[in-house]
Amino acid sequence: MRSTNAGITLTRNAIPTISIVVPCHNEAQSLKSFMLATNTALASIADVSFEFVFIDDGSTDTTLSALVTIAETDPRVRIVELSRNFGKEAALTAGIDFARGDAVIPIDADLQDPPMVIAALVDKWREGYEVVLAQRVNRDTDSLLKRLTAHLFYRLHNTLADHAIPENVGDFRLMDRKVIDELKRFPERGRFMKGLFAWVGFRTATVEYERAPRIAGASKFGFWRLWNFAIEGITGFSTLPLRVWTYFGFTVSLCAFVYGAFMLIRTLLYGNDVPGYASLLVSVMFLGGLQLMGLGVIGEYVGRVHQEAKGRPIYIVRRTYPGDTGRAI
Ligand code: UDP
Ligand code: MG
Repeated sequence: MRSTNAGITLTRNAIPTISIVVPCHNEAQSLKSFMLATNTALASIADVSFEFVFIDDGSTDTTLSALVTIAETDPRVRIVELSRNFGKEAALTAGIDFARGDAVIPIDADLQDPPMVIAALVDKWREGYEVVLAQRVNRDTDSLLKRLTAHLFYRLHNTLADHAIPENVGDFRLMDRKVIDELKRFPERGRFMKGLFAWVGFRTATVEYERAPRIAGASKFGFWRLWNFAIEGITGFSTLPLRVWTYFGFTVSLCAFVYGAFMLIRTLLYGNDVPGYASLLVSVMFLGGLQLMGLGVIGEYVGRVHQEAKGRPIYIVRRTYPGDTGRAI
């Protein structure tokens, strides 16, 4: 990466740059502490230069002006302002598109991903790993319900999907330029970034850390948003929920056939007695329910095909800072 006995200019040119990508949605309260903590953490990392790519994801508070103030005094800071709130996954995609570094580290603005871990990520990167995951060793800052549902989601996702995503690993990680260039080729609109990150592969190392509580404000991921996120994650990476109905239908038909044969033989041998309403009603409702569920699952996928077929952009940039130079800042 860097030759040790090269002249000063050469060494300088050879110093790699790392892009810190920060999606922000109403984070005005956190930004100051975020910059302070991050700058302290980065100061201890030698022989690397850093750039910051902040994405203002349609904030309705003073996030943008706070970011502009930071950018005015810090030339390493660039801001991408989106035209509205597109969601964290789209904001991350924008950050990855605009990042120019030799490696990219997405990090949350609320200091839940501790900047002190960046040094460890960079060390592993220097050892030659192309992806360095930051894995949290505890989820104490999450509620019991969130921990339980997250665990169930990972179990379900990794059973169904062809490529497992590592448990307790968020978007906080280091990715080499090679990985980023591959990620930029993904055209899909339904962006479950953790899944896409895992899908591309590459040599991966893991670093452990303890997740901190949010410094200010509240989480933007309520139950309903997390539920939809989970469905996105599963349908985006597995077609098993579609295929399972074929086997289910086959099994139910087989049972019906066996039961029909049994009834026929019984009627031939013993004659017909009064048939029961209850069993009839139960089986009709059971099968009706199953068919509706099957339709619902198909609907999920058809909806996603529709979404992808429209081919709309993943995000829209209102303007970039410093300067308004369009997409090529
Ligand atoms: N975020 C974003 N767009 C959104 C929601 C969240 O850019 O629509 C950002 C948010 O500002 C933060 C990060 O994504 O930097 C993680 O969000 P949050 O802390 O709400 O999620 P949690 O930590 O609870 O999973
Ligand atoms: Mg958070």
